[in-house]
Amino acid sequence: MKLTDRSKVVSNKKMTFGERLYIPAVLKGMGITMRHAAKSVFGDGVATIQYPEEVRPRVKVWRGLHVLKRDDEGRERCTACGLCAVICPAEAITMTAAERTKDEMDLYREEKYASVYEINMLRCIFCGLCEEACPKSAIYLTDRLVPVEENRGSFVYGKDKLVEKINERIDVSERQTELQRESLEKKSLK
Ligand code: SF4
Ligand code: SF4
Repeated sequence: MKLTDRSKVVSNKKMTFGERLYIPAVLKGMGITMRHAAKSVFGDGVATIQYPEEVRPRVKVWRGLHVLKRDDEGRERCTACGLCAVICPAEAITMTAAERTKDEMDLYREEKYASVYEINMLRCIFCGLCEEACPKSAIYLTDRLVPVEENRGSFVYGKDKLVEKINERIDVSERQTELQRESLEKKSLK
């Protein structure tokens, strides 16, 4: 049974003598390459930009570097439930849960919090499933890029890099669904 019309019937017909020479196909490919090269040198359709001074605009739902959000009072939203780690197809997330003490009421919103929270950016495929799975609206992907590092260990991002700074809040409102926004407004957790 056909579920979609995207399947393509592949033809197994024998190649002609001209096709077996490959030269016409190579010349055709070279022609396309030369046409694009000439266009970028002489035409106005230059495909490159002066990165990093110039950055291409990204779509609103661009999935880049994660942020662990705080609530209005500056408390970390994450409750170390582990759902993001379970759903992560790349097994990029690890965490250690801890119990909040009386003195930590203004640091963590829930009774349980992540004392350690790490994402391995080399494993992450930026699928956004962690964002979707989070019941506390604690983790979001942002339009920021993961910077280049010189060693593999530096790509394991801990809370120092993931939790938003109290005085440098990251606006994720464009990424939130209507349902999320309504639920956060109700709970005043925006
Ligand atoms: S974006 Fe996808 S791959 Fe990356 S940490 Fe989240 S769930 Fe895992
Ligand atoms: S980020 Fe969200 S899903 Fe992941 S452990 Fe924290 S509260 Fe749970």
